[in-house]
Amino acid sequence: MRHSSYLEINLNLLSENLGKIRALSGKATVLPMVKADAYGNGLIPVTQHLVKEEGIKKIGVASLGEALKLVKECPSLDVEYLVFSDTEISDPRHRSAYVDFNITPVIHQPEDLNHMLNDERMKDVPLVVKVNTGMNRLGFALAELEGNLPRLKARGIQHLMTHFAYSYVPQKAGDKTTRQLEEFAKARKLLADGGVSVAETSTANSGAIEQKIGVDETYVRPGLMMYGPYSVEPRVWDGHQISKFVTKVIKTFPVKKGTPVGYGVNVAGEDGFVAVLPVGYGDGIPTFASGVKLTVNGFPCTIFARVHMDMTFLIFSPDVAGKMKTGDVVEIWNHDNRVITDIATQMKMIPYALMCGITGRIPRIYKIK
Ligand SMILES: *Cc1c(COP(=O)(O)O)cnc(C)c1O
Repeated sequence: MRHSSYLEINLNLLSENLGKIRALSGKATVLPMVKADAYGNGLIPVTQHLVKEEGIKKIGVASLGEALKLVKECPSLDVEYLVFSDTEISDPRHRSAYVDFNITPVIHQPEDLNHMLNDERMKDVPLVVKVNTGMNRLGFALAELEGNLPRLKARGIQHLMTHFAYSYVPQKAGDKTTRQLEEFAKARKLLADGGVSVAETSTANSGAIEQKIGVDETYVRPGLMMYGPYSVEPRVWDGHQISKFVTKVIKTFPVKKGTPVGYGVNVAGEDGFVAVLPVGYGDGIPTFASGVKLTVNGFPCTIFARVHMDMTFLIFSPDVAGKMKTGDVVEIWNHDNRVITDIATQMKMIPYALMCGITGRIPRIYKIK
């Protein structure tokens, strides 16, 4: 167990974010997404907090495996898991998981409907149907809904949903989000005209919720914003980054212009002062983080030379010598959601990928204020 390099995850801030999301979401119920280890924040502790402290009743994951992990590790949690992409329902052995536990697959193509209707064991599993409204990833095309109207009518749809491809951009008349909303309205009309009952609906992910799009449906499905980062620029979402990436300086030294540092030949462009951090690509700092500018303990610096597996170099101006030393605590990002977004943007990444990429070598420490 490491002691000085960790992600500190403040669950109280998660609750505050959820409160703000609820305020943005009108009557819609929040159905949080905890896929990909809750975006790197820890599947089990985040889910337990959301269910036990926040009264969440339905939670979204990407794979059946994630749902089963939750069932196994938190057997007493009273919550329904929705599996949004990797349902594995074509395999009869895996279908039994949906029957035995409180797990629901989101079906996204006609073959999935066959498995739901033809397997007698699946008769009480609710029909949750994803519609392709223009993202062109998963989801029934409208023609596929139309071709299956009698079968859908017989069973009834519990929850009809779609997913936006472009909700991180402020909505404008005629743009992709608008066209997707129009297509979703057409899907609903087609089903209504065909006599198919639809009990519940949802469309919105974080970018949409930030813009109050889709907040009049039954559910909203936030992922990213719950954990802190904003999607829409200019920034409207001022939620807290719930994690803080903390490490400690293990060595400092002055460098003269032209001094090579680390693997390869990466020379200091100017005289400077270097701090070595004990985290590298083995911890999820990407190799292309080199060149990123950040502020550490009030001092501007740059990630310098190559990112190593176990170490990263920060270079400061020479006058930082004496003001920063071995053992000083460094926050690579903090609870201000602008910091992680700024770092990720400089890396030509998105905060989603940066958070998901922090490896298991970084302990997650949970805090409630
Ligand atoms: C991941 C996901 C979300 C959450 O998206 P964010 O942009 O992280 O808010 C919502 N709905 C579906 C179907 C998803 O796959």
